[in-house]
Amino acid sequence: MVDPTSVFLVPPVPGLDTRRVTADMLWRALEGPLQSPWLTVHDVGRSRQHRPLRTITFGEGPTDLLLWSQMHGDEATATRALADIVEFFAARDDLELHRRLRQHLRITMLPMLNPDGAQAHQRETADGIDLNRDAARLASPEARALAEVRKRLQPAFGFNLHDQDVRRRAGPDGDQVAFAFLAPPVDVHDTWAPVRARARQLVATIAAAALEALPNKVARWSEEYEPRAFGECFQRAGTSTVLIETGALPDDPEKERLRTHLSALFLTAFDRIADGSWEQTDPAVYHGLPLNHAVLHDLHLTGGTAVVDGREAPADIALLFDDPVARQGPRLAELGDLGEATALENVDCAGKWVSITPQEKRSPGTVAPEDPVHVEIRHRPDGPVMAEY
Ligand SMILES: [Zn+2]
Repeated sequence: MVDPTSVFLVPPVPGLDTRRVTADMLWRALEGPLQSPWLTVHDVGRSRQHRPLRTITFGEGPTDLLLWSQMHGDEATATRALADIVEFFAARDDLELHRRLRQHLRITMLPMLNPDGAQAHQRETADGIDLNRDAARLASPEARALAEVRKRLQPAFGFNLHDQDVRRRAGPDGDQVAFAFLAPPVDVHDTWAPVRARARQLVATIAAAALEALPNKVARWSEEYEPRAFGECFQRAGTSTVLIETGALPDDPEKERLRTHLSALFLTAFDRIADGSWEQTDPAVYHGLPLNHAVLHDLHLTGGTAVVDGREAPADIALLFDDPVARQGPRLAELGDLGEATALENVDCAGKWVSITPQEKRSPGTVAPEDPVHVEIRHRPDGPVMAEY
């Protein structure tokens, strides 16, 4: 058994330690590991701008798994985690786990399905297409490549890997979501066809491991039926497909911690499928996951005395960060009673002074929504700064 909370069996592959990863960075980082005799690489197509689309395969077992990442070009966390898994397969044949996985499974990975989008750091392809709305029509070369790989392998399980909007909490009272999961529906009636029930069982297995490592930070993605998405299309075609969305953690500006959590979840999933124990997980774990809950703001500073250009008023302060993952670049969102609005994080400022300094020139003494600001919290109006943003 892999302990999902343990330190990871391989260190992260160097050269992929930022949120922005391009095809050049990925294939350069994998040059060494891909020399391994345990791995097979196939070219399965080219992107619109002729970047290679490749699968990497490990194992000779009877159960096929297919994992693909970064169909949205600016969602690279799972690509980085898959690179770490590739390194694990290349380097750790000393482990019993390695032997078990290669005997029971054949694991095919298609990292970075949208390399043109990755290059431009955008969601869509070079043609402006959202690949996850092209699974039915298959108008783009990238979508066709993935659909052809699935058709050829007829895998038992599919892993559709994304990064989600980080302004989500695990239910209204949970923390910021680290991972959200879904067993995508096969129709508008939310039917639990056997193929989808197997996906639910696998999600429950992975989510249980995620909850152990990251309590209060795991959620379920919306179950609205989207017939143009790969999850739905593959599920209907007979591959039990799970959606895994990586969110964010506080103090993890490049998602390096989440990347290693995700590699551990992959190994856990592989191990549970290989030994059959995935079938023993209680599917209630799936239904018990809180829903992804959208929040309005990144940070609330409530109950304090707001200070703008020396003038004091009792007011709550809502901030939105230009970079909500790294929580950098604060802008004023609201000043005043925040009522029922929710944020990723609340700081109780009762009895404290919160000074707001606009970072751009405007008429002296004023600040307005969307202004970049610098915010300082003090215990006394003239005291030392206790916290700042
Ligand atoms: Zn996505």
